[in-house]
Amino acid sequence: MIKNVLEYLEQTVKRYSNKTAIRTAEKEVTFAELEAGAKKLASFILSKNPGRNKPIPVFLPKSAESIFAFLGVAYSGNFYVPIDITLPAERIEKILTVLEPSLIVSDAENAEKIKKISKAEVLLQEDCDKMEVKEEAIRGVLRRMIDTDPLYVLFTSGSTGMPKGVTISHRSVIDYIEWATAFFAFCEKDVLGNQAPFYFDNSILDIYTMLKTGATLVIIPESLFIFPVKLFRFMMENQVNSIFWVPSALSVVAMHKDMERSELPCLKKVLFCGEVMPTKTLNFWRKLYPNALFANLYGPTEITDVCSCYVVDREFEDDESLPIGFPCNNTDILVLKEDNQEVEAGEIGELCVRGTCLSLGYYGDSEKTAEVFVQNPLNQQYLEKIYKTGDLVKYNGRGELIYVCRKDFQIKHQGHRIELGEIETAVYSLEKIKQCAALYDEGKKQICLFCSVCDEMTEKEVFSELKKKLPQYMLPAKIRIEEGLPLNANGKIDRKLLKTYL
Ligand code: AMP
Repeated sequence: MIKNVLEYLEQTVKRYSNKTAIRTAEKEVTFAELEAGAKKLASFILSKNPGRNKPIPVFLPKSAESIFAFLGVAYSGNFYVPIDITLPAERIEKILTVLEPSLIVSDAENAEKIKKISKAEVLLQEDCDKMEVKEEAIRGVLRRMIDTDPLYVLFTSGSTGMPKGVTISHRSVIDYIEWATAFFAFCEKDVLGNQAPFYFDNSILDIYTMLKTGATLVIIPESLFIFPVKLFRFMMENQVNSIFWVPSALSVVAMHKDMERSELPCLKKVLFCGEVMPTKTLNFWRKLYPNALFANLYGPTEITDVCSCYVVDREFEDDESLPIGFPCNNTDILVLKEDNQEVEAGEIGELCVRGTCLSLGYYGDSEKTAEVFVQNPLNQQYLEKIYKTGDLVKYNGRGELIYVCRKDFQIKHQGHRIELGEIETAVYSLEKIKQCAALYDEGKKQICLFCSVCDEMTEKEVFSELKKKLPQYMLPAKIRIEEGLPLNANGKIDRKLLKTYL
C-alpha cells in the first residue's frame, strides 16, 4: 500500500517516462519532466529549511507549472494551498492570516501582488530550473512522511466572512483515487479534459488520475468555456475522451444552438459533480453522445470531493431529479433525522459521511471543525468521526440517494460554493450599511442583495466597494437599496418576504 501520492508519480514515471502527462494550449510535459520539475522545486524549498507539515501557498495561474509546484511542495514534506490569483487582495489576506506561511511559491508575473499582501518569502517558479535536485534530502523527507500527513488545503466560503481551509491528507486522496480509477476504469490511454480550477476539489480527480494511471491531463483554457464551438475544437485537437466538469459548464454547452452539430467521437466518459445537474442538460448531452458513460458524482470538499455516485442507467424526464446514487467504495453514508436516528425510505434527513475520505478539519479552526466533524451519534463505543454535510437528502424507491436542498444559507452559483453569510459580512463591513440580506434567485441564477443605508450610498457604490472584498463570482447581479428591510415576528430580517421581491 502506498503512503503518499508521490509514489503514484514515481511508479508512473517507471512505466511511462516519456509519455505526455500534461498538455496545455502552450506546452507539453512528460511524466519524467514532471518528476524532475517537482523535485527541483522541492530542493529549492528544502534549501530554505521550511520545516515539516507547513502550509506553502501556490500563487500561480492555472498551468502545468502549478502542478509542478503542488508536487514540489509535497516532496518537501509540506502541503500546498492553491490560491486563485484573481481574488481581491483583502480575501487573499484573510487566507494568509489563517495560514501564516513562511514561504509562498509564485512566478515573476504574480510575485509583486502577493508580496504586497504577505511578508512570507516568495520563491519564483522560474528560479527552480537552476536548482540541482537534492535526491538524498528528498528521500529523507519521504522516509519520515506518513499517510495522514496533509497534502493540501482548499479554501471554501465561510459564513462569518472568514474562508475555511479544508485540510486533506495523502491517505484521503489515495482512497478517493483508488476508487475513482477502478470504478471508471481509467488507464494510460485516457485523455482527461480539465475544467475545474485547481483551488476547487473537482480538480483532484483530474490531477491524481493522471498521476496514478499515466493518463494525459489536458488543461482547457478557461476562456474557451464561453465559446462552446472553439471549446470542442480544442478538445477534438487534443483527443479528449473523458471529462469531469461542474454541471454549469455542461449547461453552457447545452444552451449553445450550434452544439447539436459539434462532434467529438472519442468522448467516452462524462462525469459531473459540484451542484445539481439539470436533467434537461443531461438529456441534451446524452442525445449528443448516446454511447458515452454519464455519472452524477456528489460530495463536498470536506470529504475529498466525492462520496456518492450514480451512473446514469435509465431515461429521465426533463423535470425529474437525478439521483446522487450510492456511496463510493470504503465510504459509508448515514442519513440522519434531527433526533440523530437514520431515516426510513422517503423521509428527509441530513447526509453524513463516514470514511477515510474525511478531511483533517478546517486549518487553524478547531471550533468550526468541531461543529461539523462529530462523533457518530449511532456509536458511543469508540472514537469515530462523521462529517455533517448540511445537505438534505432522501432515498427513493430504488434505494438511491436523492439530493433535496441545503439546510442552511450555502448556495452553488456557476459551480462555486458560496455562503450567503460571507457576502453579507462583506456588505456589513461597509461603513454606510445599516441592514442587508443576500438572497439567491434560483430561477434566474442570480445573487441579489437588499440593503438599507444610513447615508447617501448608491447601488453602484456598494458594488464597487464589494469588488474590493469578494471574488467575482460572489458579487451580486442585482442590488436594491430599500428604506428599511422588512422584519419578521422575531425581529429578524424577513427573508421569506424578501424572496417574493425577487
Ligand atoms: P464543494 O465543497 O464546492 O464541492 O461543494 C459541495 C456542495 O455542493 C455539496 O455539499 C452539495 O451541496 C453540492 N453538490 C455537490 N455535488 C452535487 C450533486 N451531484 N448534486 C447536487 N448537489 C451537489
